Amino acid sequence: MNHAQLTALGRALRLLGEHGEALTADTPDARLYEVKADLRRALDLLDESVTAGAPSTRCPEHPHGPVDESAPDLCLLCETRRRAARRSEFQGRPGPAGPAATAPSRYGVRADRPQPQQRWLPEAWNGREWELCGTPRRDRHEAEAYLAAQRRGSRPAMAYRLVHEFTDYEVLRIWGTPVHVDIEPLGNL
Ligand SMILES: [Zn+2]
Repeated sequence: MNHAQLTALGRALRLLGEHGEALTADTPDARLYEVKADLRRALDLLDESVTAGAPSTRCPEHPHGPVDESAPDLCLLCETRRRAARRSEFQGRPGPAGPAATAPSRYGVRADRPQPQQRWLPEAWNGREWELCGTPRRDRHEAEAYLAAQRRGSRPAMAYRLVHEFTDYEVLRIWGTPVHVDIEPLGNL
C-alpha cells in the first residue's frame, strides 16, 4: 500500500467510525444511503490497497495460481505437471491383463510426493564452518527476510549465507517391465 492509498483508506475508515458513533434509531434513510455509499468507497479503496489477493490454492509454490477443483492442493499448474508425469510414465500403453496391484503402496506413487523442488537454506558462520541456522525455506524472499532479521538480532553471527538447494528425480536403472495395468474393482471382473 502506498502513502496515498494509506491516507485515503484511513480517512474512509475513520469516516465509517463517525457514522457508527452518530447512528441512532432516528437516523433517516437518506443518511443510511450515505453510509452505504461511504462503506462501498472504503471497500473499493481496500480492494485497491491489497496487493496480493487471498490465496486461491493450497499449493505453497503457486498460492495465487489457477485453480483445479479436482486437485488435492487445488493447483492447476502442479496438477498439470503431475498428469504429464503420469502420462509419460505409462506412455498411454494399455498393458495385458495381469494381476493388478492389490493395495496402494504405503509410500505413495511418485506423483503424490513433492515434485522436484528447490529450497533456500539459511546458514551462519560459527567461527569454524557454515551451519544451518534456520528452517530451509521454499521461498527465496522468505529466507532472505529471515536472514535479515537474524542480522538485526541482539547477537548476530559474524556472517550469514544463503544456499540454494535443488533436487531432482533421476531414474538410474529399471528392473522388469512396467506395463500399465488397469485396476478394476473386484466386482467388475
Ligand atoms: Zn502448484
